[in-house]
Order: sequence, then structure tokens, then C-alpha cells
Amino acid sequence: MPEGHVIHRLTARLLADFGGYSLEVLSPQGRFADSAELLSGLQITGSSSWGKHIFIKFGEEPDELARWLHVHLGLYGKWRFYPLDVFGNPPAPKGEIRLRLVGREEVADLSGPTRCAVVSYDEVLDVLKRLGPDPLVNHPADRAEFIRLVRARKRAIGELVMDQSVVAGPGNIYRAECLFRVGISPFRKGSNISEKRLGLLWDDLRAGLLDGLETGFISTMLEEDLRAEDPEDVEAQRFYVYHRTGRPCLRCGSMVAEQLMQNRRLFWCPGCQR
Ligand SMILES: [Zn+2]
Repeated sequence: MPEGHVIHRLTARLLADFGGYSLEVLSPQGRFADSAELLSGLQITGSSSWGKHIFIKFGEEPDELARWLHVHLGLYGKWRFYPLDVFGNPPAPKGEIRLRLVGREEVADLSGPTRCAVVSYDEVLDVLKRLGPDPLVNHPADRAEFIRLVRARKRAIGELVMDQSVVAGPGNIYRAECLFRVGISPFRKGSNISEKRLGLLWDDLRAGLLDGLETGFISTMLEEDLRAEDPEDVEAQRFYVYHRTGRPCLRCGSMVAEQLMQNRRLFWCPGCQR
């Protein structure tokens, strides 16, 4: 599943490339045909993302009166972009395309989303109410809210970082890497972690996601830990613990460990994380 930075990049791209002119909206697969008709001919006039949710505003009315497209990719959803041909025609759809936006120079095809629906602004707000703060949005009170939400819970922090109602955006890679970078054991209960350490975790999640947002690529290794003489390949230098099971920790030499936590693979260093 893409993590929050990918969603923010997609949202920005949809507005930049498809916004500001009347769009043709189709559902080649047919499942979204009625809704596509509601949007076709309108302009995209805004976009916003929160965690893993994408909201695209259609029409020039105020927010409350506009139509909103709500998309959540889930585990299998994908946006794919294809250029129009030399005659300005879109390519034939490949596979089951729920939604197609036909732009001036390219098409955006959405397949396999968990959620793809035209909703009202009130429904957008309802979704946002269920989500925790997003480190990429980082409103002034969000850091304190994250600390409060975690400390109010007795569940393991490794679970809480993946719980979108506690913090929206991070997925499995940022969970493993940010907990490692701030030295918190994924098994420590939220209520047993100091405010100071949770503040550092928020800052680190934000830093990681921002870096991913900028580069479109997740690499969490800090400069000071890169070693040119490392015999491992470049891929192995992207992460500290993610997919490094059984290899020595780059900081302390302990063996990186792995187990399932809520059915997702969890990686951590028993030596560095307390
Ligand atoms: Zn270690």
C-alpha cells in the first residue's frame, strides 16, 4: 500500500495536470459510470489529501456546494498516467479501469481502489473527523494531538503508528524506520512512552514523509550512517531495519528481528530500540 507521501504527490499531480479546464470523465469498466457522468464536463478546481485519502474538488462553486471525488487506493488501487497519441486520442484502457480522467495531454486511469465515490463536502469532513493528524499537513496543534492520542492508548506503538485514526499517512516502511531512528521499541505501550519521545517520533515521521514527498522514493538512511565501503548493495543501504531481517544492525551490530504484528511484517533492532 502506498504511504502518505505517494498520496500527496498524486493529489498534487492531478490538480496540476488536470485542473483548470473542462474534463472528460469516464468509467471504461462501467462500475463508476453514473458518478463519472456527474463529473464529466466540470473542471477540477482543488485537491487535498489527508493520510491515504485523496479529495478532488470538481466545479467552481464554494466547497460546500461543489462535487468531491473521494479516492482511497487500499492495498491494490493504482493511478496510472498515459500520454494522448499524436492525434490527441487517449489509449485504449488496459485492464479494469474504474475511472478515467481525459486531460489535454494525458489520461489518468484509476484501477482497483477501495473507495472511489462522488461525495458532498459534509461527507469529506466526516472522513477527516475519523482520521488522526497527518504529519505532512502538520497543523500547529497536530504534534500535541498525536502525543495525546498515543498516550491515551495501551496498545503497542508499532500498532498505533499504523492506525490511521492516530496518525494518518505512515505505512509499514515508515513505521519500522522511524521507530528505529528514534530508538523506540515497537512493543512499548503508547501510554508508557514519554511526551518527549513521542514528540521526536512525530518530528521523525514528518521528516521521513517530507523526504519521500520531495523525492518520490523512500530512503531513510541518514548521511552519517552511509558507509561507502559497505559490501552490501545500494538497496541494502536504503533502510536500517525494513527487510533487513537477520542482518547486523548498522548502529549496534545486533541482529535485525522480524515478526508479524497485526498481519503486517514488523522489523526492529532489539539492541537499539527500547
Ligand atoms: Zn541496533
